[in-house]
This record gives sequence, structure tokens and C-alpha cells, in this order.
Amino acid sequence: EDEYFAKKCAKSKEMITEAKQVIPGGVQHNLAFNYPFPIVMTKAKGNKLWDIDGNEYFDFLQAGGPTIIGSNDDVVKEKVKELLDDCGPSTGLFHPYEYKLAKKISECVPSVEMFRMLGSGTEACMCAVRVARLATGHKNIIKMGGAYHGWSDQLAWGMRVPGTLNLQSHGVPMFVFKHTQEFFPNDLKDLEKKLIINKFRGGTAAVFIEPCGPESATRPVDKDFPKGVQALCRKYGALLVCDEVVTGFRIGLSGAQGYYGIDPDITIFGKIIAGGYPGAGGIGGHREVMKYLGAGLDKAEGKKIHKAMCGGTMAATPISCCAGYTVICEIEKRNACQVAGQMADRLVKGLNESIKKYDLPFVCYNVGSICQLHTVATMHFRINWKKPWTIPSVLKETGIRQTEMQYMGAAYMAEGLVTLAGSRLYTSSAYTEEDIDECIKRFD
Ligand code: PMP
Repeated sequence: EDEYFAKKCAKSKEMITEAKQVIPGGVQHNLAFNYPFPIVMTKAKGNKLWDIDGNEYFDFLQAGGPTIIGSNDDVVKEKVKELLDDCGPSTGLFHPYEYKLAKKISECVPSVEMFRMLGSGTEACMCAVRVARLATGHKNIIKMGGAYHGWSDQLAWGMRVPGTLNLQSHGVPMFVFKHTQEFFPNDLKDLEKKLIINKFRGGTAAVFIEPCGPESATRPVDKDFPKGVQALCRKYGALLVCDEVVTGFRIGLSGAQGYYGIDPDITIFGKIIAGGYPGAGGIGGHREVMKYLGAGLDKAEGKKIHKAMCGGTMAATPISCCAGYTVICEIEKRNACQVAGQMADRLVKGLNESIKKYDLPFVCYNVGSICQLHTVATMHFRINWKKPWTIPSVLKETGIRQTEMQYMGAAYMAEGLVTLAGSRLYTSSAYTEEDIDECIKRFD
């Protein structure tokens, strides 16, 4: 395999070898496909990517999620070009697109009465922690085990490197996690237990969920689970924070919260809200919660309140707001969430036929246009969350080696299929049924 890629992707190999001298590991994106070496992509259009050696790929990575209408879209690009001609990339002052984007998002997502654009999903999650604490006067944050809410210190608790027991929180001192807890995914009893305990240790400011399940439904949850979490939040006076960085404007225009019928106090956005352009993060929510956002001491409804500081020199640039506003309008016009979802249904059906045909130890499913393709081993330990998860135990229980799981991403790549870490596939409205059928053949 090494030889195969060294020949097919010779220029990538050369560049990455040199890049390793100046970039740690030679990689800037952790999930950029890493085996046998990162492939250098130089062209993107619609549902296709081309690498520096001229090889063509179908794109199921979609830049990690933002490009639901396809890469390098002409309508979005033209609007951004017009904007650049007029005012350049940023002025640091207010631009009409900031208002247009905030208004559009609040029209699409009913729980979002107010919205503020930030630089990334990570920043928006950090901001939500502060706002929740100020709005409730409570201390603790509870998150679903395995969920990713960006890489800030206090939310790094419980993120496991898939297939190992390592936490992705090396370098963060334990005291930082004093007020961060985890509950077992899909387990309302466990959540309630933690909410009850917290009544005696400073209360719960917020329960963070990825509505479809941790890591974008890598570990799926029951359809009524998010509603159950909401009911518990209301009962114990905690805010419900819905992390829609992946699901916002992907599951539907009203996000996963529309699909599950919940009304979160705070919603976190990212990815699609900047249409694939830089500066993709935002926080929205109920007016009485969002009033705690700003800086310092301020007056709201005649009372002085402390506000949560947030900022960012490059947050809410005209480029991100213009691209975000335009892409949301295009999603609406092209019915992109539904189209991408139908493409995902077709893909998953085809992949499951292959899995059955060869009797493979794999599982494949989708929530809208987010598809998951895992070995039974990975899934087994995600579902049986309470069991300790180690490489030898995976091997013992399922007969599959960790290394074999990792090779799958390389196998797809060899067939011209770019996936997210070999196990997540985003579809976009740039796919046609013919493309999907061609991809099914390649996966097969
Ligand atoms: N929350 C979720 C659910 C995510 O998937 C991500 C990014 N993958 C983040 C937060 C962090 O967003 P960003 O990468 O923009 O910081």
C-alpha cells in the first residue's frame, strides 16, 4: 500500500516530507487523512477534489462539514468577490451582512431570538459556558460522554481518541475539570443523577448536547432523547445548550432541534454558517439568556447585570457573514438539506447491501446527510459506553485489529473516495443519483 500511494501521490509525498520539517507532523487538520501520508489537495468543485498529482476524488469530507451545497460554489464566490471589491476582507466595524446573517438565522431557527457571530465553534462553546453561568448563577457544566464541543480546556473532558482510552485533554490540569462532568449518552437516568448531585454543589448551569448523539451521531441516540434532556434541564434549572456546529443547516433549515422538536436555551453554530469560508462560529438563543452576552457590567431591563465577555478580531468579518448569508439562502432555494439527505439514504442503502453481500463486520447508517460507516468493533464500544474500551478488548470481543480499522480510510482513498477519518461521510446537494451509484460501486 505504501508503494501504491508513493507512486500515485508522489508530489503529495514529497511536499509532506518537507512540510514535516516546519509543521508538527506535517498536518494542519487532525482529521485530514493521515495514512500513509496526508494528500495535498489543490482543486475543489462541487462534489469533487483533485490532488497535486492530478488524481480526482469524490468528496465526502466536505471540508469537515461546511460545504453542503458543494465546494467552491459560484453563487457564493461571486457575492464574496463583490464584497471584496467594495470593502476588502474586514474593517473591524459593522457591515450590513452581519445584520442580514443574524436575521436570517433567527428566521430559520425559532429558538434563536438573538445571534452573535464568533470566530469558530470552539469559541462559541466557550462563550456558552460563560453565558450559562451568568444567566443561571450555577457553576457546573454537564456534557454527553464522547461529545466534541471544540478544544477549549474545560470542555476537553471525556473526548476519547477513537479506539483508545486516551483523553484528548493532555496538557489540561485536572482542576480545570472541577465543574465539568459527563453523562452516559442516551442515558437520562444517569443525567438526572448528576443533576441531583449538583444541587448540593453549586447547581448545573448547562447541559451540552450534540442533538443526534456524540460526535455527530457516531453514537446515535433515541429519537425522543433530546426532548428528555430538555425536560430534565427545565426541572433542575439548567440551560439546554444544543451544539449544532455540524447539524445546523444540515439536518434541516431549523437544524437538528427542528427535527427533534426541542427548544434549546442556547444554540451553538459553526461550519455551514460561514459557507466554507473562514470565521465559522456563532451563538444564538432566547432573548432573556442572550442578554448576558457582551462585556462588563451593563443595564438590561433596568437592572445591572454582569455580562460574559467574548470577542475576536477576525470574528464576524464581512466575508464570513456574506458567505454565510448567501449559502443559507442557496440551501433554501436548492432544498439542499433534503437533497443531500436523499443522497445519503441512497448511499447508505447501497453500502449496507455490500456489507450484507460480503458478510462484513461493518455497520452503516445516516441521520440526514451525515453518514456513519464503522466496523462493528468501533460501534460495539460506542454503544456499550460503560465498558472500558481498550485495543486488546476490541480485538478480543470482535476479532478486529485497530490497525485494520485505520486502513479502511486508505482503501477508500485508493478508490478515489475522500471520507472523514474513514468513518464519517457527509453528502451534499452537489451529488446526483448517478454519482452516488458510482461511489457505491467503488466502496463495494
Ligand atoms: N462542536 C461540534 C459538534 C463540532 O463538530 C466541532 C468541530 N468539528 C466544534 C464544536 C468545534 O468547532 P470549530 O472547529 O469551528 O472550532
